[in-house]
Amino acid sequence: MNVGFIGLGIMGRPMAKNLIKAGYKLTVYDKFAKAAVEELVGAGAKSASSNKEVAASSDVVITMLPNSPHVKEAVLGKDGVLEGAKSGLILVDMSSIAPGASQEICAAVKEKGVVMIDAPVSGGEPKAIDGSLAIMVGGDEKAFNTVKPLLDKMGASVIRTGDIGAGNVTKLANQIVVALNIAAVSEAFVLATKAGVNPEAVFNAIKGGLAGSTVMNAKVPMMLDGNFKPGFRIELHIKDLQNALDTAHALNVPVPLTANVMETMQALKMDDMAANDHSAIVRFYEKLAKVEVRK
Ligand code: NAD
Repeated sequence: MNVGFIGLGIMGRPMAKNLIKAGYKLTVYDKFAKAAVEELVGAGAKSASSNKEVAASSDVVITMLPNSPHVKEAVLGKDGVLEGAKSGLILVDMSSIAPGASQEICAAVKEKGVVMIDAPVSGGEPKAIDGSLAIMVGGDEKAFNTVKPLLDKMGASVIRTGDIGAGNVTKLANQIVVALNIAAVSEAFVLATKAGVNPEAVFNAIKGGLAGSTVMNAKVPMMLDGNFKPGFRIELHIKDLQNALDTAHALNVPVPLTANVMETMQALKMDDMAANDHSAIVRFYEKLAKVEVRK
């Protein structure tokens, strides 16, 4: 099986490396990240000069791009995947995009016999590196079964939740839970710190109880170190929450807590923190209370 991989950013680069390690023949392309392309070629991949060229030599093409417009451009645009694809190609979009956009792109590529599934991920860079992502899939069941062994090399859990778009609906749910969890942790730890209790001791005392979470385990150590290097950038989380708000409003579903965290992230963007990790949500609460959650 020849595999194409498009988008070698924070997530795509380690995910592609895991496929090479597993023995897959990879052709890679990134429109901007030339150093990442060279790194992958060093690890054994072939490089292509366009998305079209990737598709021409692949049975399966994986895309790992920022948002809906990037996936539309890379797949349907000039020199895009669709121009190079042969009938029967399976397109696995692992980017987190609007569920409606997944459905539109899937319908457009179907005319050329290409089958698309959406397969966004959760777990961030550490789990992309060790191949233990949570992968949530929507789309054709036969195509899913064909690519499942490939997805298993990048994820510890690979679960199909429904038809095309269902993967991204699941991811929106995931992103709401993650954003609200970081905000709750931030509010709680700012309070504890201002009350004069060591935040590291608070973390150790509560992480094994009901309040403990994967989010708390990943993000509190970053807060305690004042390390807000991404990881997952606030600007990407703003993108996800915008997709969540748009999808919710189209379905007449009020999402008041999501709207609240969205405005917190907008305030951080205004404070030039859009490129920081989303654990920097704590900075918003720190500013309100004039205290820093540090070791
Ligand atoms: P990133 O910005 O680091 O990487 C995206 C890559 O796509 C960049 O290297 C960029 O040059 C490339 N690109 C953009 N347009 C292109 C085009 N038209 N053709 C080819 N390449 C193009 O982003 P990331 O952090 O790797 O995230 C990728 C996706 O995964 C996003 O949807 C994000 O929301 C999601 N995600 C990220 C994380 C995380 O922790 N970073 C976790 C889970 C999910």
